[in-house]
Amino acid sequence: MNSGQYETLERLIAFDTVSVNSDVPAMEYLADLLENAGFHVAMQRLRIAGVAQANLVAWAGEPRPGGLIISGHLDTVPAAGQPGWTRDPFRMELDGDRIHGRGASDMKGFLAQCVEAARAIDRARLKRPLVFIFTADEEVGMLGAQRVAPELPKLLGAAPRPDLAWIGEPTSFAVLNAHKSICAFEIRVRGRGGHSGAPEIGVNAIAVMGKAIEAIGRLQAERRAARDEEFAALFPDSPHDVMNFGIISGGLATNIIAEECSLKVTYRSLPNRDPLELYREIERRLGGVDPHDYASENHRATIELGRPVFAPAMRAAAGSALERTLFAATGTRAARGAPFATDGAWFAEAGITTLICGPGDYAQAHQPNESMARAAFERGTGMMLNVIEQMCAVSG
Ligand SMILES: [Zn+2]
Repeated sequence: MNSGQYETLERLIAFDTVSVNSDVPAMEYLADLLENAGFHVAMQRLRIAGVAQANLVAWAGEPRPGGLIISGHLDTVPAAGQPGWTRDPFRMELDGDRIHGRGASDMKGFLAQCVEAARAIDRARLKRPLVFIFTADEEVGMLGAQRVAPELPKLLGAAPRPDLAWIGEPTSFAVLNAHKSICAFEIRVRGRGGHSGAPEIGVNAIAVMGKAIEAIGRLQAERRAARDEEFAALFPDSPHDVMNFGIISGGLATNIIAEECSLKVTYRSLPNRDPLELYREIERRLGGVDPHDYASENHRATIELGRPVFAPAMRAAAGSALERTLFAATGTRAARGAPFATDGAWFAEAGITTLICGPGDYAQAHQPNESMARAAFERGTGMMLNVIEQMCAVSG
């Protein structure tokens, strides 16, 4: 057991870095640790939804082409209001063979391993740059990665940007090499209000939203039937676009004609598709929805689509040096697709080949009483040092 690594994780869990809160104090803590380990450190300051946030870029080694990026996000999903917690989410607790705390698996455990590896590494052996990138906002909009990826040449100064990145999202050490794009947007239906006893004077926005949902649901079923066999191995459960109705709200009272209704929709498209194609198709289908409610033909509702917010897909070419190294280090033989999106979307967009592989459990991510296996936490650091040795220290 390495007590320094546990101490770092304990401190990281104690910072409340739920995405809406500022990550700056926790990022400054990490910056100090990496600076003390002899790394060059650059903070990228951001404002996201009016809150001060930061990304951290730290590197060591000879500034030659090649090398490796190791990355993770510092923000976590919320714990407050999530049913099922019996522990303090912001206090690390060791219980049997598990480590508990919000972010233990997703993904402060991995960040603590990065710090431990940075301390343990013999920097004089790094023939190529080793770059750590810690990001903000992954769990909400991936805006941290979106901002940091294109700025890396500037933030790294003398070091050429590596073309390979390893993101330690919780996968129980499986190697994931692809995920779908993701797009989120809102649909707003505006009707006309009035007393519910006189429906002919208004138009009910909830009723019209129901028609919109039906139209989108039909499209969802069509896409489910349109399996793309090219992706059957990567996404065996869903080699097709998938959609979700996330949040709906509308209406004021049971005796008032609902004047407004809004719906938040997300979808994920296969990596070879334009991430906005489905948005345009939904817009087209909603244009064909009958804007009257069922009570009267007198008035029409309006249906509007909000601006789409999206992150690109990720798909790493097989056979990279990083893939070979991660396969060897984890005993994995084949990479597969991830059912979730990651910061790798924006790394890939910047031309960086990115693989996802981490010590946490995907099943523990976003859960109450989130935890990670102590064995994986302890084993992962040696594995990371081994990967760094292969990618940055071995000459050739
Ligand atoms: Zn994560």
